[in-house]
Amino acid sequence: MKTKLTAAIFGLILAGSAQAKDHNVDIKFSKGISKKYRKTMDRDLSVLEELDFRKEADEETLKVLGLQNLNSETAVKWLEDRVQVVIEETDSKKLEKKIKVEERFYNFENAGVEPTIERATSTPSGKGVTVMSNLGAALYYAGKSSRNLFSYKIKTGFMKSETIKFSSPRSGLIMIGPGHFMERFDYDKNDSKAEANSFNRLATFFHEARHSDGAGKNLGFFHAVCPDGHDFQGLNACDRNLNGPYAVGSLMIKEFLKNCESCNDEVQERMKLAYLGSTNRIIKVTKKVAEIDNFEVQMLQSTLSVNEIMLPLLSGAELEAAQKEIAKIKAQILAIAEREGKIDEVASKYVDASPEGRRIE
Ligand SMILES: [Zn+2]
Repeated sequence: MKTKLTAAIFGLILAGSAQAKDHNVDIKFSKGISKKYRKTMDRDLSVLEELDFRKEADEETLKVLGLQNLNSETAVKWLEDRVQVVIEETDSKKLEKKIKVEERFYNFENAGVEPTIERATSTPSGKGVTVMSNLGAALYYAGKSSRNLFSYKIKTGFMKSETIKFSSPRSGLIMIGPGHFMERFDYDKNDSKAEANSFNRLATFFHEARHSDGAGKNLGFFHAVCPDGHDFQGLNACDRNLNGPYAVGSLMIKEFLKNCESCNDEVQERMKLAYLGSTNRIIKVTKKVAEIDNFEVQMLQSTLSVNEIMLPLLSGAELEAAQKEIAKIKAQILAIAEREGKIDEVASKYVDASPEGRRIE
């Protein structure tokens, strides 16, 4: 009787405490994250920690993740290495105010080497909702470009805080928004707490975590512009490599699906579609215009570069018009090159995912 009562009281204390979590994943959360979101993410991490990966992982998964084997321990560790703190949606003005310069003229690895960042040629339709983004990689890159070591202090509890120094893309500051929790994205529509819905959010986590990797040209695995004819044509929503965030995310969905005991046919079908949708964002081959001795092409190419230089100065309708113009010119150049047989097909590769720099306290 006495033990029962103690257990009941202990249970109450646990339930009432913000610290209550039933997993040991070493990822910290900002105090500013709503209780509801926090609870969901804690549940997701428990699902990962307790998942029995009974089915052997695909060779491809191991290759892309850089793992010898996939189990709950290696999966959790993979995430922990790339995600340190999760914060709530914060607008860029507020963010800017909180960023401190820890050290000027910081000695960055691969200093002066710029990552490949492709410029979008179209603007997303509809209003965007934040799902998740890897701020750590972006802030590391911003710091590196200006030779400043940035830092960011996050309240994680009563009298508790974490200071992240952006000394590597591995600093692992992830921002989440309402999009991450929207029920319309659920795989299991009947039970919002279903394991499958945790898998969905976890796959997003793995995608985002991949942005904490890469060095030099491949720093942060920034997305490529989707080709013409693609669902996301002209948007930075594809990868021009075989082991980027979309590969990571899709392969994790596949592994979760293989090991899901509670997923019914309908749920499995949704997961397969999500897998395919994500796989479809991996650009396997890029058509490039070879050296071409054609006056028309040379003219088009110079018009193109002028347009591209102007792009950062534009916004709104002007930006959209310029993006359309750029896409049109590129298509014209490609058409001429194709007609003259001057196309090189460049196959995408697995790029080195090792990060530059390292986390510092
Ligand atoms: Zn991404």
